[in-house]
Amino acid sequence: KDYSVFPLLYQAVQANPKKEALYDLNERITYEQLLERVNELAAIFIEMGVVKGDRIGVCLPNWNETVIIFFAAAKLGATVVPFNPNYREYEIAYIVANAAPKLLFVCEKVEENVGLAALVADQRQLISVRFKSPFAIPFEQLKRTNKSAIDVSIVPSHERYCILYTSGTTGLPKGVMITHSSVVQSGLALARSLKCTKDDVFIVPAPLFHIFGMACNLMAAVSCQAKVILQEKFKPDHTLALIEQEKVTIHQAVPTMFILELNHPDFSTFDLSSLRAGMVGAAPCPKETVQEIRKRMGFHLCISYGMTEVGAATITPYEDEDESSLDTVGKPMEGVEITIVNEDREPLPVGDIGEIAIRGFGNMIGYYKLPEQTNEVLGDNGWFYTGDLGSLDEEGYLRFIGRKKELIIRGGYNIYPQEIEAILSEHEKVQESAVIGLPDEVLGELVCAGIKLKQGAHSSEQELLAYLSKRIAHYKVPSKIVFVEELPVTASGKVQKSQLREQIIETIK
Ligand code: ATP
Ligand code: MG
Repeated sequence: KDYSVFPLLYQAVQANPKKEALYDLNERITYEQLLERVNELAAIFIEMGVVKGDRIGVCLPNWNETVIIFFAAAKLGATVVPFNPNYREYEIAYIVANAAPKLLFVCEKVEENVGLAALVADQRQLISVRFKSPFAIPFEQLKRTNKSAIDVSIVPSHERYCILYTSGTTGLPKGVMITHSSVVQSGLALARSLKCTKDDVFIVPAPLFHIFGMACNLMAAVSCQAKVILQEKFKPDHTLALIEQEKVTIHQAVPTMFILELNHPDFSTFDLSSLRAGMVGAAPCPKETVQEIRKRMGFHLCISYGMTEVGAATITPYEDEDESSLDTVGKPMEGVEITIVNEDREPLPVGDIGEIAIRGFGNMIGYYKLPEQTNEVLGDNGWFYTGDLGSLDEEGYLRFIGRKKELIIRGGYNIYPQEIEAILSEHEKVQESAVIGLPDEVLGELVCAGIKLKQGAHSSEQELLAYLSKRIAHYKVPSKIVFVEELPVTASGKVQKSQLREQIIETIK
């Protein structure tokens, strides 16, 4: 079986040429039209001197153009390097220097945030999408000079397809090199898990520059010739309105997005009856949220765990609405193995907590230009050591405990922040929480909870401490509760705890 990216699209077009493929609220295009534009752009790339392995930077929102570039690059074997257009100067400069793209597609946001002059380089061509700049060629002006058909052979699926940057939750984002086969198989596995067909309509509020948007949404949808609704910017009421308007069937998002939708004052005015299935992942999702989504939005919601370096690794079975699996992130996807290991990377028995190691079709080639960091996480025999803690049960369900780096050690006791966060999320006034360790001379670390209250709710440190004291052991109860307007989050909806820690240390000084 061929798992190269371009043939995935080609097959979709063969099967359903006239079907609507993309709608980005700007334009609707069919599969046939998508292929035509992809072929045209691939030919232009060749004329511009792009060769296999060249990087093509894509600093754009979820637009149709973004998808066209993704598949055109795939056809030639060029490497797509998509990244966040909301990044500021420092982050963009870092990625552009790291990836050194030959062509760089930019939107007006980049011009506003960074200025294009800073990105121009001898060997680099800037292309502006949906705006004009003296430093760039406008996308719509890219034309072929030679109209004869181009002839390229299918790119072998074990070759590099893209460099995706990690969310940067724990530090600088790392460029993860991923093969054609990895993104395609991740998409296929996800589509299989959610029982997708060509009649499905995906809504994609998650950015395409992360694995969640690219593999679990875009590739999954194209693998079954489904329709994709691209959302440029997530806004809960927009997403809900689009679900109603476009009769969306598949809704995959990060926990925060679902929470904001459920809490929206107009939630009950939208008709969501078209929804059939979906997935939540990328960050821990409170149990109550999962139950509420299933009840109030009425679809099969699967919980999944994964990361840029391996794609979606686990998922709860489609029909599984068991109470007990709510504490888990499901079972390994078909073709993925998971084992729990100790500090020496030796396998631990069922039930023990240790580092989660993963081996499967989604595993990365390595971090781009970071051989040492690659060696630290890629072990012998193809295992990837995630830096996450978890345990497996008798039935093969994985429990996610937290990141190794975020484990708090207070006076010799291990404290898992997620356990406390899960209990806090059950409190009626708490919208979101993040538990972190603060340095302490005596105990090494102290537990501190950053809390974002629900809109209009009032609470106090005493109230929440009393609530926690009734539910968890004394040593786990935070020494400090800090109320914040917003928790610092990444574009993929994850709380940046190191940033929160700095903020809190600053405010309590
Ligand atoms: P960085 O590696 O740059 O610090 P990151 O790890 O957040 O950022 P991603 O690859 O986007 O970058 O995220 C993967 C991580 O997200 C996992 O290692 C895990 O810690 C967390 N995660 C993913 N899915 C889940 C889930 N279902 N529940 C809890 N955590 C999850
Ligand atoms: Mg990571």
